[in-house]
Order: sequence, then structure tokens, then C-alpha cells
Amino acid sequence: MLGYNKMSKERDKFLTEAMELCWHRWVYKAKTLYCSKCKNWSSAITSNPNFSTWQSFGELWNWATKQKWWNKFEYDYIERGSGEIGAKNRLKRLINPNKFADAIYEWLKENRKYIK
Ligand SMILES: [Zn+2]
Repeated sequence: MLGYNKMSKERDKFLTEAMELCWHRWVYKAKTLYCSKCKNWSSAITSNPNFSTWQSFGELWNWATKQKWWNKFEYDYIERGSGEIGAKNRLKRLINPNKFADAIYEWLKENRKYIK
């Protein structure tokens, strides 16, 4: 995918693990892909998320908004941009898969205590 670089992959792996999901490590076994971490066959599970997509945006959104830290994230995100644009407009910027994933990634990296 265009623009899907090493940094995006690091972000996606970090977010997947924060969501307590397996970041699959595929190996070939009996000519089929198999995850050496969660021991599932590729046919039985979905591939690793790509948070640049709208599907993964939805998954990340559903997860993040249910977390205990969500209000703190929102507050910090708005606070950081205060004076720049209004709070409403600042939050609207997050309606974008990459921007949302980057914001959650950066915030969680600074607030690791919220990750299990
Ligand atoms: Zn796995």
C-alpha cells in the first residue's frame, strides 16, 4: 500500500498489541501460513490490521472509545492544540485513519501505564 512504511508497521504492531490482539508472525507449515505466536492457521484468522484503512479505523475507534483513558486522551489531544483551532475542529481531524492511529499511538506511547 502506498505510504505504508516501516513506521506505519511499527505503529500498527504497537496498537494491535495494546488492543491485546496477536500481531501474527507468519511461518510456513504444511505449505500453509501459520502464526507462530497464537498458533492459528492463516485461514482461520484475519491478517494483521493496517490502521491506514477505514476498516481498521473502525476497529480502533470501537476499542479506544471504550477504554478508561478515552476521556483523558480526548482532553490531552484538544489541550495540545488549544489556541490553534477550536476543540470541535481539532477532534474532527481525527476522522482520518492515519491521523487517528498516529494520535492514539503517540498518546499511548507517552502514557504506557494505560496499556496492560
Ligand atoms: Zn497470531
